[in-house]
Amino acid sequence: MTYSTASEIEAAIEQLVTARTLLIALDFDGTLAPEVDDPLEARAIPAAQEQLLRMLDFADTRLALVSGRAIDSLEHVAHLGDRVLFGGSHGLEYRLDEGDSPLPMSAENTAALERLDALMHELADSAEGAWVELKPAGRALHVRMTSAEDAERLTNEAVTRVETDIPGLTTRFGKNIVEFAIHDADKGDAIKRLRDYTGADAVFFAGDDTTDEDAILVLGPNDLGVRVGDAPSAAQLRVAGTAEIAQVLAILADRREAVVSARTN
Ligand SMILES: [Mg+2]
Repeated sequence: MTYSTASEIEAAIEQLVTARTLLIALDFDGTLAPEVDDPLEARAIPAAQEQLLRMLDFADTRLALVSGRAIDSLEHVAHLGDRVLFGGSHGLEYRLDEGDSPLPMSAENTAALERLDALMHELADSAEGAWVELKPAGRALHVRMTSAEDAERLTNEAVTRVETDIPGLTTRFGKNIVEFAIHDADKGDAIKRLRDYTGADAVFFAGDDTTDEDAILVLGPNDLGVRVGDAPSAAQLRVAGTAEIAQVLAILADRREAVVSARTN
């Protein structure tokens, strides 16, 4: 595993920015914002935020955050105004220009969610530092602040008990988190939906976690995927962390601005 060189990054971006309409979609936590203990305290690093704010104003260019967070939580941490698009809860919820799209919930879904909530709280109560995040279509068990033994035990127990007690849920593993959802969607669905919605000819996507691979896998030859960190990935480019993503975004913003301003003048 090696990180992409500056010339590889520049060459890939040079090709991408000529797209008629460009969608720039980004994971938030671990990609734009360093991981923190309290998710509501997470913020994009200033160098990245500066580029996001610039790109919101470019012609023929749309910016989207695609996250496992619920929309309300994304809004709380993003600070990007009304023009940004959101794909939240791993592709289950969306905020588009016309507002939020509601999550379909049957009586069966509601009952499953109640059982899941009770089970997750029972598990979280059994270990110091564990906590449950409420999501519109599921629950996430956070083990970042528990001991390593508790993290492993809670994760295994959660998976086994959910399989037995509430079969049919979607399970997702992330960094120090295991999450269960009553609907099946992933970040690949979010990219497809946002690509259709924006009419983009090309998509840029960057993410740092296993759930981001779903988005990377739906990218085509005109798109550009960037994986943050050193885990296996199908992404064309790879960088080390949030500071490096900010550098990539700065190049992307400079080149895209040049292309769209040459068109309108
Ligand atoms: Mg992430």
